[in-house]
Amino acid sequence: MTSPQRICAGLVKEALEDAHRGLRGLAVPGRHGRPATYIPELGRADPRRFGLAVMTLDGNLHQAGDALVPFTIQSVSKPFVYALTLADLGVEETLNRIGVEPTGAAFNAVRPQSARPGNPMVNAGAIVASSLVAGASGDERFGRIAACLSAFAGRDLVLDEQVLRSERSTADHNRALAHLMRASGVLERPAEEALEVYFRQCSLLVTAGDLAVMTATLANEGINPLTGQKIVSPEVTEIVLSVMATCGTYDYAGEWMLRAGLPAKSGVSGGLAAAAPGRLGIGVFSPLLDERGNSVRGLAACEQLSRRLGLHVMRP
Ligand code: GLU
Repeated sequence: MTSPQRICAGLVKEALEDAHRGLRGLAVPGRHGRPATYIPELGRADPRRFGLAVMTLDGNLHQAGDALVPFTIQSVSKPFVYALTLADLGVEETLNRIGVEPTGAAFNAVRPQSARPGNPMVNAGAIVASSLVAGASGDERFGRIAACLSAFAGRDLVLDEQVLRSERSTADHNRALAHLMRASGVLERPAEEALEVYFRQCSLLVTAGDLAVMTATLANEGINPLTGQKIVSPEVTEIVLSVMATCGTYDYAGEWMLRAGLPAKSGVSGGLAAAAPGRLGIGVFSPLLDERGNSVRGLAACEQLSRRLGLHVMRP
């Protein structure tokens, strides 16, 4: 394992507080983005909420604003479930089932489902990924997913039943995707069973602080810097971080890589998780989204932190 690069705690704290102070005002719905409403419960989010957290690999957690306010993880669950799929199924078999190419299309795009899904960060690939996690039933698979995400976070994560019900009752689009994939044989589990596992993984509650710990674990070659527990292997984190870098921020992934230069994953509840390999993990929560579905203040905060702390992965 490479030794983590030390980052001065004072510098991180200052950068975090500056970013939070500077971006706090971007909270006017309509002007600074909109919350997702296609899952009705998410539309009720308080647009002022803004939590920021950084965990360095020596186990120090720095937090600002609403970093302890819980929200549903949504698509930020995808890289962590993908990590579990890779660990369970092995790298080659997982690559046979789910591609790793950026799609340039929307996260819930319906594409000809005769081949494997484009990548595990879009809904089609994520539904297949969670269906491939080892387990005899949907309940067992979800139990293993919840345990794995909890280990990444270093504490037990629980479900938000209200958001779960809300998504379940309005999920025609994801249902269509899953049934198409089932019909073509891409999805080997019954569609409704696979969807239920996927909806539940998306409805796990996390905080910005949790996301910082989870991404710090990816940045630390799979060892949680808070608990010291080894969650996945360095081979797995290398693949997960690569896919986050190329596919993690919807159809903004190319520009994001150029601007922030960090593997990241965003979600429709306003979460954004970014990793600086060998250095730190970042978690943000801010529910107002841009037209591509990325948290407006999430992108801006990560970009600022990356520049200020010199985190761009392409910069020596
Ligand atoms: N549960 C959400 C869905 O599948 C997650 C989407 C996202 O965060 O990108 O629609």
